[in-house]
Amino acid sequence: MTSVNPPLSLQELMLENKFSNLPPHFFTHVSASPISAPYLVAASLSAAACLNLDAACLGAPEFLSYFSGNQLIPGSKPLAAVYSGHQFGVWAGQLGDGRALLLGGLSNVATHQEIQLKGSGPTPYSRMGDGRAVLRSSIREFLCSEAMAGLGIPTSRALCVIGSDQMVFRETPETSAVVTRIALSFVRFGSFEHWYYNDQIDDLRLLADFVIENSFPELLDQANKYQALLTEVTIRTAELMAQWQAVGFMHGVMNTDNMSIIGLTLDYGPFGFMEAYDEKHICNHTDQQGRYSYRMQPAIGNWNCQALAQALSPLIGSADETNFALSHYPASYNKKWQALMRQKFGLEMEEETDLALFADFFALMQSNQADFTLSFRYLSKLSNQTTTKDEDLRDLFIDRLALDQWLVNYRARLTREFKTDIERQTKMLAVNPKYILRNYLAQAAIEKAQNKDFSEVAKLLKILEKPFDEQTEHESYADLPPDWARHIEVSCSS
Ligand code: AMP
Ligand code: MG
Repeated sequence: MTSVNPPLSLQELMLENKFSNLPPHFFTHVSASPISAPYLVAASLSAAACLNLDAACLGAPEFLSYFSGNQLIPGSKPLAAVYSGHQFGVWAGQLGDGRALLLGGLSNVATHQEIQLKGSGPTPYSRMGDGRAVLRSSIREFLCSEAMAGLGIPTSRALCVIGSDQMVFRETPETSAVVTRIALSFVRFGSFEHWYYNDQIDDLRLLADFVIENSFPELLDQANKYQALLTEVTIRTAELMAQWQAVGFMHGVMNTDNMSIIGLTLDYGPFGFMEAYDEKHICNHTDQQGRYSYRMQPAIGNWNCQALAQALSPLIGSADETNFALSHYPASYNKKWQALMRQKFGLEMEEETDLALFADFFALMQSNQADFTLSFRYLSKLSNQTTTKDEDLRDLFIDRLALDQWLVNYRARLTREFKTDIERQTKMLAVNPKYILRNYLAQAAIEKAQNKDFSEVAKLLKILEKPFDEQTEHESYADLPPDWARHIEVSCSS
């Protein structure tokens, strides 16, 4: 995403808020509420590169003023957008940017990147909230956005976290922070549902036209561009779900207001990465029913696309045309998931029994509560022959005889691939990460940051930007979680 233009200095930043060209009832112009004595907690060089922003300016006084919301970037017309949504399967009515402000977009780069502040103070959509975000959740969003980018998974990016000693009150008083997010669009499924459920079909059409023009211009020539939009979003969402499943990422709050219309991972809250494999794992402490558990994510992705389809149906026309667009979900998900699994297991040819081989490995991880990330990482290092290297993998499993039996089948399968160990291992190591954002790693970085030591956030960021590299000097960051980490609980908005 880097541009050929020379990097921009802060003085050259100029924003344009395209969303504010929509009619005024789509948003409210709001200024950020200033925060006292802002300081830099963390910044991402690679996110800065998405904006073609000069790395030298990260942390400069003007940078702190701009990205704390204390000073307006030239051209910026900050706004909070209105949207609605289904939360935990129930229609929640109007929501909207309660603590986010869209500053505008930067067109100096190849693509128009939108910049949003999160935690910058109340808006007309804040309801009972204070419009703020705590340092803890801001660091989690920052690190996970950049970790997902490192894993090659579509996501909003995070430029920086700016902290302040200004207190906010959650279960206990905590310090606040502002995260700067970057995405090609922050429009959500719920943005469409808003107009549909308010029976404002002309506004629905305006929004769809806006999104197609700005985010899907290739669809403009389609005979039924609204159907084409639904098809494209359905496919992107299905593929995103497959990508989440393949790294064990759990979003935690897949409400339709948190679903990106361009297929990004959006709105990081009580997310988690699978550790001891359990397909029923729920990462969001408040999701008692497990609606958003790991195994439910693909089906919920489909459910959310159905909600979007309902909202787009007046534009698309017939129910058949809407259903046809939606019908792409299962095949797109399966195709992507199987392709990712083939890569994860190091198989290039397709054999009928491969899916059963994969399922058997997942069943073994399940019954042994084997660590998801390390299981695939060690699998990537196996030789075609039994060697002492098997021990790393075997150590993750309690029932070693069952694993050995599976390995016999797996090795028999590998012999039909005609690849040398080294070729297969290299490919597998490039898709099975060594480093993921484990809760205990995030927690350790957060605790240091709460004591004004931001070094661990910076270190984690660096490691997670290259999750497939061995980085032997950071070996301990790939370790299994310690016992105390079992008790970390994360829940909704903080
Ligand atoms: P979330 O669960 O973070 O996706 O948020 C759901 C809704 O609550 C969105 O409309 C948010 O903008 C809003 N919200 C969450 N936290 C706050 C807060 N601290 N202040 C104001 N609005 C909030
Ligand atoms: Mg949200």
